[in-house]
Amino acid sequence: MQLANYIGGRFQPALSGATLDDIEPATGERVAVVPASRAEDVDAAVRAARDAATGAWGAASTAERADLCDAIADAIAADLDRFADLESRDTGKPLRVAKTVDIPRAIENFRFFAGAVRHSATEMHEMADAINYTLRRPLGVVGLITPWNLPLYLLSWKVAPALATGNAVVAKPSEITPLTAHALAETIDRLGAPKGAFNLVHGYGHEVGAAMTAHPGIDGISFTGGTATGKHVGASAGATFKKVSLELGGKNATLVFEDADLDRVLPDIARASFLNQGQICLCGSRILVHRSIHDRVVEGLAAIAKGYRIGDPRDPDTTFGSLTSHAHREKVEGYLALAVQEGGTIVTGGRRPQVPPALANGAFLEPTVITGLGIACRTATEEIFGPVATVHPFDTDAEAVAMANGVQYGLAASVWTRDLARAHRVAAALETGMVWVNCWLKRDLRVPFGGVKASGVGREGGKYSLGFYTNDKNVCIQL
Ligand code: NAP
Repeated sequence: MQLANYIGGRFQPALSGATLDDIEPATGERVAVVPASRAEDVDAAVRAARDAATGAWGAASTAERADLCDAIADAIAADLDRFADLESRDTGKPLRVAKTVDIPRAIENFRFFAGAVRHSATEMHEMADAINYTLRRPLGVVGLITPWNLPLYLLSWKVAPALATGNAVVAKPSEITPLTAHALAETIDRLGAPKGAFNLVHGYGHEVGAAMTAHPGIDGISFTGGTATGKHVGASAGATFKKVSLELGGKNATLVFEDADLDRVLPDIARASFLNQGQICLCGSRILVHRSIHDRVVEGLAAIAKGYRIGDPRDPDTTFGSLTSHAHREKVEGYLALAVQEGGTIVTGGRRPQVPPALANGAFLEPTVITGLGIACRTATEEIFGPVATVHPFDTDAEAVAMANGVQYGLAASVWTRDLARAHRVAAALETGMVWVNCWLKRDLRVPFGGVKASGVGREGGKYSLGFYTNDKNVCIQL
């Protein structure tokens, strides 16, 4: 496949002609050639977006913008198999996960925000001798930067509210997983959206991403990615007074209390660690377990981890695919070596699995459970972002909460207990943006999504996204 940038309604190569290779992680083979764009391409995209924001797209009514989002949702739904296949090839995730999680959720994002703007209203504040009403206006041109773990799902989580509220978009997907972003551009093009409303620029983060955050013609940046990158993005966007939203890394705790219904919930706890090969920002990578059930939980998790069917992501029976890049597998393996140095015991996993010869160059790694590590060691506190869970015993609720909070991150946590009062108490005490109780990854698109501490700034979802992509203007009328 030969991908192209999509700028001002035209597919085009990088202005320099430079390209980079997109590698299929399960086979190690090249799947696409991608423009390696630079600041000049970003500049062209920003100009096209500005023309759209001040032209036909800016003049579109709320109903027309909502209709476009619904049409995008319908078009992806009609093409679900192709989108899922592209996502699976690009990321190494099982096709069944792409088909049942990634692409359906991307479709839902477009439908949800179409409905959200159709039904949204602004406020009026009454005074004795005046009324105030609020006008809500799009920011103008927004830059959307997304990571490789859930490519279309996370891109659509930004594109849908940005378009629905009337912004023109310049999007940059991760250069590691650009296929579904390209397919989205083709879809939007086919639907005849106003030229420049949606622009896509492929390339490296330090070139395209950095050019976007520094560009004076971009009014807002919504970024999802790692905490270290987020620091650069925040600093660069701040220097040009852009509105900025940062969804960053996590080291999420799974708190399992002695009264948890283990027979029922252990598969969900394992899923929280290993779905998408552990490459979800919300994955529970530190499993904190009451000492009385520690060994039972470890044995149960190890048995589930051993039972995953690792193999060809395109095989419908595969439940565990490859990591998304070879470089990332090396990073994760570095942490496995560190865990052993830090005194940990690898209970299961930790190796490259046996796979069929066609996948011998794939970036596969077994799901791994580690015990015996101190709660403050690097393995237990740094984000690994792979199929690695460390298990730590605790004795009291207060100790569990202190252990959960003892990291720089604060994205999400899950609490597993049958005691309702304890669930409320612990949920309130956790320093995270999100807490699940007896469930994980249950998503209502209206609720606030985001983290505290080093996990980010701002919230996405429902009215929070609508608020981010707009500026409120108060109009005060003397009566
Ligand atoms: P990353 O390296 O931070 O990259 C994220 C995006 O930023 C990519 O498109 C990347 O481009 C781009 N980028 C890199 N350097 C940049 C710069 N200087 N300026 C602007 N953009 C730049 O993260 P990743 O490795 O792709 O994704 C994994 C991370 O994302 C994990 O930490 C995970 O927790 C986090 N994440 C967070 C959430 C959440 O909602 N909180 C959701 C998913 C993932 P290139 O790929 O081309 O470098």
